[in-house]
Amino acid sequence: MAKTAIVTGSARGIGKAIAETLAKDGFDIIIIDACPIEASEETAKEIACLGVKTKAYRCDVTNSEEVNKVVEEVKTEFGSVDVLVNNAGITKDGLLVRMKEEDFDAVIAVNLKGTYNFTRAAAPIMMKQRSGRIVSISSIVGIQGNAGQVNYSASKAGIIGLTKSVARELASRGVTCNAIAPGYVETPMTAVLPDKVKEAMLEAIPMKRYGQPSDIANAVAFLVSDRASYITGQVLSVDGGMHM
Ligand code: NDP
Repeated sequence: MAKTAIVTGSARGIGKAIAETLAKDGFDIIIIDACPIEASEETAKEIACLGVKTKAYRCDVTNSEEVNKVVEEVKTEFGSVDVLVNNAGITKDGLLVRMKEEDFDAVIAVNLKGTYNFTRAAAPIMMKQRSGRIVSISSIVGIQGNAGQVNYSASKAGIIGLTKSVARELASRGVTCNAIAPGYVETPMTAVLPDKVKEAMLEAIPMKRYGQPSDIANAVAFLVSDRASYITGQVLSVDGGMHM
């Protein structure tokens, strides 16, 4: 029976690339996104062409009731939850002294609480199975900080702490939990940045190219594969050498 992978925020961007790559590796794919269901269903349809089973859900990762319901349904319909990729994320940038409280809370709610909600829902299933892989998408700014991203970098640093604690709790049950820290990746999230910021980013990347969603997806594919069975609690930077 095929293994099942849940990927949050996968209607587009990095999440979509992760879903496609895992489908190519033979995983059945659950698309989770907060956007109108048509967009997620379109992505699911594209991925189904790769010969795997797919299903799309409209689900807000901040809503624990919705999350629990989706994970239960997936377990019933697909038989197992083998991989969870916590990828859904948002930015609401601004300097600390100008940052609105609601913008701080919103970013923590999606990026960190959303990661907690899905991990909390999937972990008991994986523990019972005595196997599972959890990968959460952090960011290099969660490691080194970034002016204008107090909320975002706090959420991404939080993901690293959560990852290491979950890794320690679940290691003896055959479940690994790791994080990936992307640098600058070309997606709709970064497309809106001013050209000046983009140029400065490129300057700071030793490999002198922006990351592509497939760069992140390939790292996820490795961490959820049998080849990574002895790796847990780690943060893998995928950033062309930006942070080392
Ligand atoms: P995108 O904005 O392109 O995609 C993010 C996806 O998450 C969207 O489909 C979005 O849906 C979904 N999403 C947002 N909020 C929720 C929610 N509450 N519930 C469910 N889904 C939600 O971003 P990227 O692909 O660039 O980023 C993916 C991840 O990688 C994020 O966690 C981001 O922080 C991280 N990252 C990205 C970097 C980059 O340079 N691009 C660098 C470092 C980390 P909707 O269409 O509804 O908004």
